Amino acid sequence: MRAAVLHAIGDLRVEDRPIPSPAPDEVLIRIAVCGVCGSDATEFGRGKVLAEPPVVLGHEFVGTIEAVGSEVTDLAPGATVVCGAGVSCGDCAPCRAGRTNLCRTYRTLGFHRDGGLAGFVVAPAAIVYDVSDAGLPTDTLGLAQPMAIAVHAVRRSGLAAGQDAVVVGAGGIGAFIAFAAASTGARVLVFDRNDDRLDLALRLGAFAARNARTTGLSPAIEDTGLEPEVFFEVSGSSEGLAQVLGAARPGATLVTVGIQRGEPALPLGSFTLREITIVGTVAHVFRDDIPEAVRLLGTRDDWSDVAGTVVPLEDVEAAALRPLLAGGSRQIKTLVDPWIGSARRARHLAAGSASPSIALSTSTAEAGPPAD
Ligand SMILES: [Zn+2]
Ligand SMILES: [Zn+2]
Repeated sequence: MRAAVLHAIGDLRVEDRPIPSPAPDEVLIRIAVCGVCGSDATEFGRGKVLAEPPVVLGHEFVGTIEAVGSEVTDLAPGATVVCGAGVSCGDCAPCRAGRTNLCRTYRTLGFHRDGGLAGFVVAPAAIVYDVSDAGLPTDTLGLAQPMAIAVHAVRRSGLAAGQDAVVVGAGGIGAFIAFAAASTGARVLVFDRNDDRLDLALRLGAFAARNARTTGLSPAIEDTGLEPEVFFEVSGSSEGLAQVLGAARPGATLVTVGIQRGEPALPLGSFTLREITIVGTVAHVFRDDIPEAVRLLGTRDDWSDVAGTVVPLEDVEAAALRPLLAGGSRQIKTLVDPWIGSARRARHLAAGSASPSIALSTSTAEAGPPAD
């Protein structure tokens, strides 16, 4: 099979690899599409955050079960599945508490072991979700894993219908968070420097969008008449964090989604007096967030504005990783189909869209540090 293998920083090669065989508790998946993520670009461009090269990249994939290990009883060849990508042990204290994303030995397909930018991948059956009956095209289902990251961040925030929220940074994960947040019934203000992203945020259900080049966050909030209880800081920039800290009202919750690389000077004293809650969020909880992500994908017919193009494996570096590294990529998400020789348009239009009643299923609160 062909596979996109990260060998070292800046060294990605599409090469022949043997088709892997599943262990007793694993399944072999024939990849339909695999999304490329900002964290893939980070590993390619800067390296040594998560990935342990040489490794096949790709943690956002959907495909068809080709074979199952001897102990797998609940999945059968032919089933269409999405994968959570994060592997947890099931035994440690966080796992037993249902916080599998905080597993003490958490590993991710596509970083620590071979992922889905290939013809086939093996994955533990425990992190594979059968979507055969979801009624959604596989190109749409290729968005399930990043949507689960957003679902988890929104769940962590406690955001509910009737509340207002702010999303700072509407690329990649930010666009999915804007959608997941708006899907709770909250009014969402999206703040970004890119007009294309702001337009997309409005199509994804944002109540308002304002350009950070022309206004500060506080006046933008005032202008829209919103009273945000929740702020998602997704940009990871010190400027984005400063805008949020300046705008957060007493009692607000700040969800740090983007990873702050520097050491921001936090005015902790003012947090005390404003009773600001700071919440981390990392990855997703497979059992809770992947099914909800798939359900949310079914509430919108056409995701072409989020992921409009599907490229072959050979184009991963030029069409996905390098534009993501350069920033300002017009595509929120680029999908890869390992079985095509040239780029094609994504096929999203579902036969029938799912129920419009949208509410995150209830889950206990959680805490942790960010990434995916
Ligand atoms: Zn990702
Ligand atoms: Zn564990």
